[in-house]
Amino acid sequence: MNHLADYAEHLARLRDIGQCRALPELVHQGRYIEKDGRRMLNMSSNDYLGLANDPALQQEFLAKYAEKLPHFTSSSSRLLTGSFPEYQALESLLAQRFGRESALLFNSGYHANIGILPAVADKKTLILADKLVHASMIDGIRLSGADFLRYRHNDYAHLESLLNKHQANYRRIIIVTESVFSMDGDKADLAQLVAFKQRFGNILLYVDEAHAIGAYGEQGLGEAEVQGCLRDIDFLVGTFGKALASMGAYVVCDAVMKDYLVNTMRPLIFSTALPPFNIAWSLFLFEKLPHFAAKRAHLARLSEYLRAQIGTHFARPMPSQSCIVPYIIGDNQKTVETALELQRQGYYCLPIRPPTVPQGTSRIRLSLTADMTMDEVVQFMDCLKQMAVK
Ligand SMILES: *Cc1c(COP(=O)(O)O)cnc(C)c1O
Repeated sequence: MNHLADYAEHLARLRDIGQCRALPELVHQGRYIEKDGRRMLNMSSNDYLGLANDPALQQEFLAKYAEKLPHFTSSSSRLLTGSFPEYQALESLLAQRFGRESALLFNSGYHANIGILPAVADKKTLILADKLVHASMIDGIRLSGADFLRYRHNDYAHLESLLNKHQANYRRIIIVTESVFSMDGDKADLAQLVAFKQRFGNILLYVDEAHAIGAYGEQGLGEAEVQGCLRDIDFLVGTFGKALASMGAYVVCDAVMKDYLVNTMRPLIFSTALPPFNIAWSLFLFEKLPHFAAKRAHLARLSEYLRAQIGTHFARPMPSQSCIVPYIIGDNQKTVETALELQRQGYYCLPIRPPTVPQGTSRIRLSLTADMTMDEVVQFMDCLKQMAVK
C-alpha cells in the first residue's frame, strides 16, 4: 500500500482544477514584497492601518521597555504560570475602551473561534450562522456539536424566518456573523441583529470583527462602534494580527461569560499563552488606536476610489463597503493568470479560489492599506485597465 501515492494523486487533482496551493518564498521590504527577484507593491496584506512596517513605532516600543523587556515566552497556559501583568493591562484597557465589563485574550482569532462556541453551546442551543462566515467559525460550530443552520449571506429576512421557525424549540440561539466579510469586504447590519435580539429574547450575538477592528470607527473600535452597538453584542471578537499589526485575539463580554470561558474553553486552557512581549506590543498599539484617525480617513478615501473604479470600469458586482475590494473574475485559471500578470506588473496580488470562496467566484482580493498613496492606487487601476484591453 503506497499511502504517499494517494496523497500525491489528490494533489494532482487539485493542480488540474487550478486549486493547488504552495507556500511562497517572500522577502519583505516595507510595503513591498520581493519574490523571484521581482519587487511588488503588497496588495494582499491585512495590515490595513499600515502599522506593520512603521520603524518609528517599533523604536518607540523598544525604547519604552529598554530597561526591562517583557518576557519572550509565557512558558505555560495562563491558568498555570503563564499569566503576566501585560495580559491584565491589555484586558482592562479593552474592557474600558469598549465600555464593557470584561475582555479575555486568546492566542489567535482561530483559537477564539474554535474555542468560544464549543464552550457556550450545548444541545439546547441552535447556532444560526451567515453563509459566508470564516472557516474558523465553521470549525468552532462543528466542534460545538450544537444544531446549526446557515442563513443566506446578509439575508436578514431569511434569518428572521429561521428565528420564527425554531426559536421556541431551543433554550438559546446564537447568531454568528462577521462584521466586515473577509472575501467580499461587505458589512453585516449589526443594528438589525440587535433588533432581533431585543425582539426574540433568547438570542446571543457573536460578531467577529477581525477585518474591522482598528480600521473603522472614530476610536477605531470597528463596526460595532460605527453602528452604535458596542454594548449589545454578547461576544465581540477581534484579532490583533490584521490592522493591529501584532498577533492574538480577544473577546469583549460580560464578566460572568469571561469566568465561564476561563473554566471551559479548551484552546485557552490547554495552550501556552502568547509571549508577554507580544502582548505588550498589542497593548502599545491598541493604546494608540484612537490617534490613527487620519490613517483611517485616508484608507477610506483609497477604498472608495478603488471600489468605484472596479465597479464601473469592469461592470463587476461590487459588494465591498470596506478596504477589501474583490475583483471577481469567476474562472479559476483566468484568475490565476490575472494575478500572475499583475505580479509581473509590480503588484503582489493573489488569486482566491474555492473552497475559500464559492465556486465560480474566483477573484483577486485587493486589500488596501493606509500606507499606500492615492497615486499608487490610481496607477494600479491604470495598469488593470491596460491589462483588460490586451
Ligand atoms: C483572520 C481571521 C481569523 C483568524 O484570526 P487569526 O488571529 O489570524 O487566527 C478569524 N476570523 C476572521 C474573520 C478572520 O479574517
